[in-house]
Amino acid sequence: MLNVRNISSYYGNIEALKDVSIDISEGEIITLIGANGAGKTTTLMSISGIIPPRSGEIYFMGQEIHTMSPDKIVSLGISQVPEGRHIFPDLTVMENLHMGAFLRNDTQGIKDDIDYIFSLFPILTKRQNQAGGTLSGGEQQMLAISRALMAKPRLLLLDEPSLGLAPLIVKQIFEIIRKINAEQNTAIFLVEQNANLALHAANRGYVIENGSIVLEDSAENLLSNDEVKKAYLGL
Ligand code: ATP
Repeated sequence: MLNVRNISSYYGNIEALKDVSIDISEGEIITLIGANGAGKTTTLMSISGIIPPRSGEIYFMGQEIHTMSPDKIVSLGISQVPEGRHIFPDLTVMENLHMGAFLRNDTQGIKDDIDYIFSLFPILTKRQNQAGGTLSGGEQQMLAISRALMAKPRLLLLDEPSLGLAPLIVKQIFEIIRKINAEQNTAIFLVEQNANLALHAANRGYVIENGSIVLEDSAENLLSNDEVKKAYLGL
């Protein structure tokens, strides 16, 4: 479904990604783990077209996307939930959800998807007329995921969904991520500093260090890999 082929991405003269290759098949949950500053966010930004790679190629469902604008990439079926949520604080929950559907004009489909989202996150039903900025951190993360779902993605890019949230809320959000994957067959690309959590949710994983992929394996094998245990699982 997604083929990232040997991409290198830069901020000015700084090479943040070096020759990164990642493959995601339909319906998979894939995680990218790594330390602070390793290049996780840049990988997502390169896929979504915000930081286009300077070399290499990215294909989505067979189409070359590394030269496309971010809105075109969204319209093909890739939605990103950014680190720190970035919901619209002055818009209501309902208005935030409609913003996620800005490329769609199927009124009934949009309504059905809002109903589905409210079944996933019942708390958002209660909060639908409240301004996004008044929600708790966990509720804002739920809203950010929901807003991304409103674009009807085939691939959902999640940047650190656990960041700054209480363990119980994190557990709840990860259960919903698995549910979305199972019920909608939406592939998930999950970037996390919490490697333990991410590897328990994923089918396969990649490890990134200093902008390069250093390991790739099934989540099960990565969980029992001595280097991963020492560097990322604190074991
Ligand atoms: P974190 O977990 O802190 O978000 P990360 O693994 O997502 O880390 P990136 O944010 O992708 O890492 O950063 C990769 C490298 O690019 C780092 O060396 C970082 O300092 C650098 N970098 C990131 N954003 C910028 C920017 N806007 N300008 C210059 N350098 C940047």
